[in-house]
Amino acid sequence: MTVTPPKGRYAPSPTGPLHLGNLRTALVAWLHIRLAGGHFILRIEDLDQTRSRAESIGQILEDLRWLGLDWDEGPDVGGPCGPYLQSQRSAFYDDAFSQLRNARRVFPCYCSRKDVALAANAPHGRENSGIYPGNCRHLATDTAPPNARAAAWRYRVPSHRLEVLDQISGPLIQTMDVEVGDFVVRRADRLYAYQLAVAVDDALMGITDVVRGADLRDSTPRQVELLNSLGLPVPRYWHIPLIMDALGRRLSKRDGDQGVTALRQQGRAPQHIVGRLAASLNLIPDDEPLSARELLARLTSATLRERLIAAAAQASHGTGYPQ
Ligand code: GLU
Repeated sequence: MTVTPPKGRYAPSPTGPLHLGNLRTALVAWLHIRLAGGHFILRIEDLDQTRSRAESIGQILEDLRWLGLDWDEGPDVGGPCGPYLQSQRSAFYDDAFSQLRNARRVFPCYCSRKDVALAANAPHGRENSGIYPGNCRHLATDTAPPNARAAAWRYRVPSHRLEVLDQISGPLIQTMDVEVGDFVVRRADRLYAYQLAVAVDDALMGITDVVRGADLRDSTPRQVELLNSLGLPVPRYWHIPLIMDALGRRLSKRDGDQGVTALRQQGRAPQHIVGRLAASLNLIPDDEPLSARELLARLTSATLRERLIAAAAQASHGTGYPQ
């Protein structure tokens, strides 16, 4: 039997310079795949062109390389699963969207944000839940109501419980209709939503292991739901704790999460950053400078997972891991 080596990815949004939190995720995603002898992809999530900045892309690649990471496929090195910029992948999203549309898994929604909020607050709505109350769910899909605004398209969630086994935090269960609601897969301005683009890209790029920040854990069942509907393979998910400040808030620029570019300009060596990030997840006992390759040599797949599980458990008692 041939065992296919795992394939992982780091998928930053180029909205500015990478911060320590982004770097920690990138480092762990890289360690996980390199320890397993797998294939690592860099994908740039620049779908939202209004928020993305072209100059950030080059900066991100440069900062990741400076940290000591490398990748087998990406916008600068190419590869068989390209393009590696989401802004160039709309044909794949169009395809997935047509499939969902033909199968009547999505429906057009003409509501404004205000309509959704008002309906959710109505006496029988799900008060303040932010969950779509189903206004347009039962409208005919082929004729727009008179004077309707441009439609967003929502995925019609089934009323079932979806369970995802996170490799670090364990089972994550969401009752799709109660906790999630019909979610947008294509916005009214025709931009595909993150959920659809990520699910499609991970599947088409053959990703077996998604390692990313715990802030995205809650969106995983939506992505699994889409993958199941599209008949695409579901990867394993590893959600790692976020870097928090002393008050349990996500570390931000204001609290000293400086962009990597700024740290480089201050003359910090990559070994210092790697050591600090590794120690912050207890991957090494003390904060000491070491290169990404040296860190790799000190770990195995099993010890990495063990330490990440311990770090997530610690983070959930107080800070670092959204419940
Ligand atoms: N592009 C997302 C971000 O930068 C990450 C998406 C993912 O890893 O699924 O936060």
